[in-house]
Amino acid sequence: MSKVMIVTGASRGIGAATAKLAASKGFAVCVNYKSHTQEAQAVVEEIQSNGGIAIAVKADVTIVSEVNRLFTETVKAFGGLHALVNNAGILETQMRLEDMSSERIERIYNANVFSPILCIQAAIKIMSTRYQGSGGSIVNVSSVASRLGSPREYVDYAASKGAIDTLTIGLAKELAIDGIRVNAVRPGCIDTDIHASSGEPNRIERVKHLVPMQRGGTAAEVASAIVWLASDESSYTSASFIEVAGGN
Ligand code: NAP
Repeated sequence: MSKVMIVTGASRGIGAATAKLAASKGFAVCVNYKSHTQEAQAVVEEIQSNGGIAIAVKADVTIVSEVNRLFTETVKAFGGLHALVNNAGILETQMRLEDMSSERIERIYNANVFSPILCIQAAIKIMSTRYQGSGGSIVNVSSVASRLGSPREYVDYAASKGAIDTLTIGLAKELAIDGIRVNAVRPGCIDTDIHASSGEPNRIERVKHLVPMQRGGTAAEVASAIVWLASDESSYTSASFIEVAGGN
């Protein structure tokens, strides 16, 4: 039987690249998304046309009942769960912290911190040997912003990724005895739609000279690290971070 992976936010960008790569390596993949149904369906169709196994499940992972349905539907379709990639995340318009509304900050923390926690809770109940599961791997998509801080752009977002880093370390230690590894990938500036939400779709062009490699990265380059951490090839790796940031 194929190993089963849920990738949150897999209709586009890094999540879509991760779903496609994981499927090519033999995972049956649940492509989760919030609103872009056609894009999610296209990811599933591409996987299937290459001989892989995938379903798409629309679920807003900031909502407890939708997270529970996401995990239930995946287990119903594939018979289990072996890997969770907490990829769904948002950022908002660039501004100084004092100008951010409390509603915006709440949205950022709901999407980037609360939702991965909800998904991990659901995954533990299926994968943990404590609950008769067979173990598994959790990969959190953080950001180099957690180290750099994103001043004058989105300190709220950077701090939410800092929370993900701490969560990764704590849970890796908490869950090791239950057969679950927890790691994170910290992408740098990656060419996806997310930069449009910050109000600067071409941000990579402006900042690429600050990257030692002098370029932005691709979603596929991030996916390689995520899928390695999700797979048995990284079986003795936990509480670890892979920087995919061109040297930054
Ligand atoms: P993206 O292109 O904007 O795609 C975001 C994905 O997340 C979409 O599939 C979207 O679904 C989904 N999503 C958002 N909110 C959701 C929710 N509440 N429930 C379910 N799905 C939701 O983003 P990306 O650049 O690939 O980023 C992916 C991850 O990498 C994020 O965690 C981001 O913070 C991190 N990251 C990105 C960069 C970068 O430069 N791109 C750098 C560092 C870290 P819909 O399509 O249905 O809206």
